[in-house]
Amino acid sequence: MSQVFGSNSIDIPKETFLSAYNAIKNIDGLNFIEKLWAAYYVYMDNDIVATGLLFFLLHEVMYFGRCIPWYIIDRTPWFKKYKIQPNVYPSDKEQWECTKSVLKSHFFVEAFPIWFFHPIAEKIGVSYNVPFPSWITIATQVTIFFFLEDAWHYWFHRGIHYGQFYRYIHKQHHRYAAPFGLAAEYAHPIEVMLLGFGTVGIPIVWCYFTRNLHLFTICIWITLRLFQAIDAHSGYEFPISLHHFFPLWAGADHHDEHHHHFIGNYASSFRIWDFILDTEAGATAKQTREKKSKLSAEKVAQTN
Ligand SMILES: [Zn+2]
Ligand SMILES: [Zn+2]
Repeated sequence: MSQVFGSNSIDIPKETFLSAYNAIKNIDGLNFIEKLWAAYYVYMDNDIVATGLLFFLLHEVMYFGRCIPWYIIDRTPWFKKYKIQPNVYPSDKEQWECTKSVLKSHFFVEAFPIWFFHPIAEKIGVSYNVPFPSWITIATQVTIFFFLEDAWHYWFHRGIHYGQFYRYIHKQHHRYAAPFGLAAEYAHPIEVMLLGFGTVGIPIVWCYFTRNLHLFTICIWITLRLFQAIDAHSGYEFPISLHHFFPLWAGADHHDEHHHHFIGNYASSFRIWDFILDTEAGATAKQTREKKSKLSAEKVAQTN
């Protein structure tokens, strides 16, 4: 029997999803999404399978769903003026090869550990009961995860750019010097696990210390993180891109340079780490760096 109502055992028919939903829809104090969530868990009647399947489907739907608009934009000449590298487009063959590889990784690398997620999450106190936490709690935790993941990503991404790590692990992701949405998760299995920990592991560690996290918050976080990664690989920079309004945000403008130059711009969501540690990529950053080193060389010459 599902524990979605916590210790309150409520007798709900679970023959079909609709019968569960019809019984739950009359419960006071639950919003529409909470009712759907509860009906799903009651109908599935196995919380481990319910969470595993939910996460797997969420990943597939959000990932490929978000890639479709980018695929259409790539095939629409009007958008060419917004393409960061306007002369390099992925061919249909390249996109198909990339899709096959990503699907292989989803089914053979991620489909296995996903079934351990519910037991681990339950053990460390991740809640999946209804009602959900407030939107303020959800938004605060998702924001914290964005900053923590960004730090994790910066250091490990920078790490796999070194020597043999690059050669044997990260080189696969750099196959496309002009990235496109689908290429966001095109990576070696070790990289998928290592950088994926920033997305999946950080909430688990957070909950271990705070004992305050809901599975629904993780779903929102994973969805937004997927959108961030796919958009960063889209290859398009618009006047309405988020970083114009929120200058700390990285976006495609930041990550495209990383793929183009193979070096610098290691962070995922924000520009903070690359700015502070002077690892920004691109011609402007290179000029600023050269200016800086010239100035400090002149200073040294003057003091001597
Ligand atoms: Zn890289
Ligand atoms: Zn990339």
